[in-house]
Amino acid sequence: MASFDDAARPRCPMPLGEFDLIRRHFDRPVRRQPLGVGDDCALLAPSPGQHLAVSTDLLVEGRHFLPTVAPQALGHKALAVNLSDLAACGAEPMAYTLSLALPRADEAWLASFASGLHALADAHGIELVGGDTTAGPLTIGITVMGQVPPGQALLRSGARPGHVIWVSGWPGRARLWLDAVRGTLRLEGASFEAGRLAMEYPQPRVGLGRALRGVASSAIDLSDGLLGDLGHVLQRSGAASGSSGPLGARIDAHRLPRHPALSGLPEEVVLACLLAGGDDYELLFTAPPSQDAAVLEAARQADVAVHPIGQIVEGPGVEVRDAAGRRIDGRWAGFDHFQVASSAVPGGAS
Ligand code: ADP
Ligand code: MG
Repeated sequence: MASFDDAARPRCPMPLGEFDLIRRHFDRPVRRQPLGVGDDCALLAPSPGQHLAVSTDLLVEGRHFLPTVAPQALGHKALAVNLSDLAACGAEPMAYTLSLALPRADEAWLASFASGLHALADAHGIELVGGDTTAGPLTIGITVMGQVPPGQALLRSGARPGHVIWVSGWPGRARLWLDAVRGTLRLEGASFEAGRLAMEYPQPRVGLGRALRGVASSAIDLSDGLLGDLGHVLQRSGAASGSSGPLGARIDAHRLPRHPALSGLPEEVVLACLLAGGDDYELLFTAPPSQDAAVLEAARQADVAVHPIGQIVEGPGVEVRDAAGRRIDGRWAGFDHFQVASSAVPGGAS
């Protein structure tokens, strides 16, 4: 797109040139879709009868990532957070577009960013089919497209009282790393590295989401903290269940999966990481107890650990309990960009 102040300055302020830049780093031949980068539109060919699943996420420097992050990690993460949304719907990823605002066309930066992006795309068999590029403060917008059989998408709205709450993988490490970077806690080398990897290279649970079709009653991916994201499921499911009133949940703190990087820390720090951490990109999902074996089989197929951490109850409210059944009180707010507008959290939420 031409910019409105074209008359006032050269058409393209980037030394490399907008079109060279696209050709060199983002124009790759497509094999699975009819038409990719280079024309006015891309053309996609979903399998006959499937629903198209579409999701988009925007990453802004200083708000979603630190200026010091390695460009390769940024390329990975920008796509990973989008794939995570498709995973949460049980959709199979097909293609994506990339909108980039760049302060300058830095060859080395672009090559590294593109390598992180393309490596994750290749790992999931999806293709970059288009985008937009402009000069401006570093901002990355990705839209992913996937497909899912009609009626089989996992939604936030299917949880009901009695359903088991599950979480995949090992949440909490990204928040742990962020606290160490901010200087509010000290981490030894291996834990710091585990946290950095979790923050910079989240692995979207695409295989698990697909395997949970027909098994899970609801699902969401963890981006803004477990309790906050669980709140979205309770809200959507409560609204969908009509007359039965608001929904709530019981979380058993002792059943939350604890990565070794979290060991040896005060319990309130561990719970803050696990319950309000953000940037986990694990799946939180529910299923009736009758599906316990099917959930474990889906996890085995996807080769991802899953843990039952509580239960949906008649609400309202979420109660966190210890092993003895005693209520643990804490202030574990989920992340909200506009409620904390004065204290942006670089790398801290999406
Ligand atoms: P238009 O002006 O029609 O929007 P552009 O000149 O912006 O087209 O882009 C030319 C082609 O390059 C289009 O096919 C577009 O999808 C693609 N493209 C632009 N930026 C990117 C990018 N960052 N990544 C992938 N494809 C891109
Ligand atoms: Mg354009």
